[in-house]
Amino acid sequence: MQKQWLMTLQGVTSSGRSWDVTIPAAALGDKERGQVAAIPDLVRDLTWVGELQRKGNVFHLCGEWKTAVRRECSRCTAKFDWQFSALMERDFQLAGESRYADSDAEASEGVCESLPAPGALDLLDLLKEDIWLVWKADVICAEECKGLCLGCGCNLNTEVCSCVVDDSNSPFAALRKLKVDG
Ligand SMILES: [Zn+2]
Ligand SMILES: [Zn+2]
Repeated sequence: MQKQWLMTLQGVTSSGRSWDVTIPAAALGDKERGQVAAIPDLVRDLTWVGELQRKGNVFHLCGEWKTAVRRECSRCTAKFDWQFSALMERDFQLAGESRYADSDAEASEGVCESLPAPGALDLLDLLKEDIWLVWKADVICAEECKGLCLGCGCNLNTEVCSCVVDDSNSPFAALRKLKVDG
């Protein structure tokens, strides 16, 4: 159990905390760890550059992460490494403390999550939540992916098939014609 990713809001000093770290894929993919579902098939360690700062009673966590997951292209079904990244931005406060005390009007926008004292946070869980937030059900290996041949199922990115593309007799041609006429 890596304690280095655990922290509490009460433990945040006036100078805050900052990170410029690499988080092992194995830690994020560990099903036994934390409260948030593990990230499957990570092929790269996650990089995380961020900071946690206190402004009045609000703790502002922000930063950027980047990683890659082995996925299947939804067009050609080939496996590829899906590179993705996102900016994380979240506000926390300790339950029972008014966020408007200490004249911190600047944090008055957006959602502020309330945590019971001492305000335990698990950075790995926060990152996993963020990853699931930007997760896409369908991903493609490349914008120009040609997909599979409807005739024989071969991968048109890497193979040339002998299926005859005869538009005139296909139902799709008729459909296209309808669209143009309509
Ligand atoms: Zn593809
Ligand atoms: Zn074909």
